[in-house]
Amino acid sequence: MPYFRKTSTARIDPRGPLVFDTRTLPRRPGEARTEIRTVPAPADLRVGMAGVPEGSDLRLDVTLESVTEGVLVTAKVAAQVTGECARCLEPVAQTVEVRCQELFSYEQGAGDEDEDGYSLDGDLLDLGPVLRDALVLALPLAPLCRQDCPGLCVECGALLAQAGPEHVHEHAIDPRWAGLRQRMTQAEPNGSPAPEIREESGRGRP
Ligand SMILES: [Zn+2]
Ligand SMILES: [Zn+2]
Repeated sequence: MPYFRKTSTARIDPRGPLVFDTRTLPRRPGEARTEIRTVPAPADLRVGMAGVPEGSDLRLDVTLESVTEGVLVTAKVAAQVTGECARCLEPVAQTVEVRCQELFSYEQGAGDEDEDGYSLDGDLLDLGPVLRDALVLALPLAPLCRQDCPGLCVECGALLAQAGPEHVHEHAIDPRWAGLRQRMTQAEPNGSPAPEIREESGRGRP
């Protein structure tokens, strides 16, 4: 039953865009080699409102360095990030640059599995999982179209960046609440509003 045969790691496809061949790197501490590559971004590089479009260019600057335990990889990657502004929901496009470093250990004997770390598969190493982790952490959780994006009007949803500062709603306050608002404003200098006002606002809410 060949499918049950246990191998230490799944074989890496040597043609994979994020697979590096260390054959030309002598296994002598101090030896190093740098490789520049542009590869298509893999799928699912997305967190919340921002992500790297699948197939867009990932620009890599990778240094492979021979160390005693294996190959130390230092990678710089630049990726296009697109998403929606967290305040106004307009499209956002920016470039994210990350630097990451990871040790790929030389293959261990059977039963001597490396705990959690990465290891070489023969002469090959797959930088995919390392880059994915680094990029996902670098994605903005709340992307902004610009740092001072004023967002949307809470009353009507208008884009405040386009509507301008003169966009106000004169009658935003329901006249029935005006008195309460005045009392809360007066309560503010002493800290939080007095308890009976909170109770009143809870009961009165439609
Ligand atoms: Zn915005
Ligand atoms: Zn408005």
